[in-house]
Amino acid sequence: MRILIVDDSPRHLTMMMYELGKLGYATSVAETGTAAMEAVAQERFDVVMADIRLADMSGLELCWHLRTAQGLRHLYLILMIPGSMTEQFHELVEAGADEFLRKPLDWKWTAARLLAASRVVAMQRDLERLATTDALTGALNRRRFLERAAEEYTRSRRYDRPLSVVMLDIDHFKRVNDSHGHAAGDDAIRATVRACRESLRSSDLIGRLGGEEFAIVMPETPPINAYGVAQRVRERIAATAVRLEAGGELRVTVSLGLSWLNATDRSFDPLLARADAALYRAKNTGRNRVEVEPQVTLSRSLAG
Ligand code: GH3
Ligand code: MG
Ligand code: MG
Repeated sequence: MRILIVDDSPRHLTMMMYELGKLGYATSVAETGTAAMEAVAQERFDVVMADIRLADMSGLELCWHLRTAQGLRHLYLILMIPGSMTEQFHELVEAGADEFLRKPLDWKWTAARLLAASRVVAMQRDLERLATTDALTGALNRRRFLERAAEEYTRSRRYDRPLSVVMLDIDHFKRVNDSHGHAAGDDAIRATVRACRESLRSSDLIGRLGGEEFAIVMPETPPINAYGVAQRVRERIAATAVRLEAGGELRVTVSLGLSWLNATDRSFDPLLARADAALYRAKNTGRNRVEVEPQVTLSRSLAG
């Protein structure tokens, strides 16, 4: 659990880092509300502990800003209030605080409240994972994939960076299910995603768009390199043996369609549509192959 401490007293910050460190929490610090907002925009924090009196804004304002900026994730907000404060508790929670602690902090009390916070944080993480990933494979689900892909599109466009997209679909998968059963089919789907991951960078996105159809987004990757990756994915999947529970093994192949960002694209959708068109062509020209759209020659010798 990562905690951001916001306080304008360097002495308090040092002491809190020390005490929270002893409790085993990873901490960062910010001395102003503005710095806290910047830190939250850049890094994933689970908990923010903010003094209610900051130099540039009140802790309440900071809560409000953080709530507005947090997006899908719920930040657990703890306000540190003066010991003399006896009212306004309702307002603190209304402004977005999840918890408030009196200063000077009682460390035994604080430790117990942070333990309670960590439970909420863990629950939040589980919910986020369930809402954004596919249970069978761990790939992003369709909705989350398309959201993330749109973000990558915007980033690539803004900084004029390359972006490549692959769509892939397992070949003759109905036969796999028919001859080996649905459970074996599931195993083959899992093995396919695993083989993809092994050929990809951690910054690449993989999403399950439908039953046995997946899409990959490769940021910072020009088509020539993406073509090389797509071929490697194809070869790796073809070479993977899926063990059958009943004994023996099974192999599948995939067809892939590759596209990339071009000057006329105005959203991510046309990239995906081109990758889909290329995939369709790969299916119609023999399967277990990579096709590209637009149909240009990408020299294999140059492929990363
Ligand atoms: P093609 O080479 O043209 O892709 O042929 P195909 O048989 O693979 O055709 P298609 O892609 O249309 O078939 C998808 C099949 O995948 C149909 C469905 O029964 C099966 N399927 C979809 N989702 C799952 C799943 O989660 N598990 C299993 N085991 N099978 C699934
Ligand atoms: Mg298929
Ligand atoms: Mg399909």
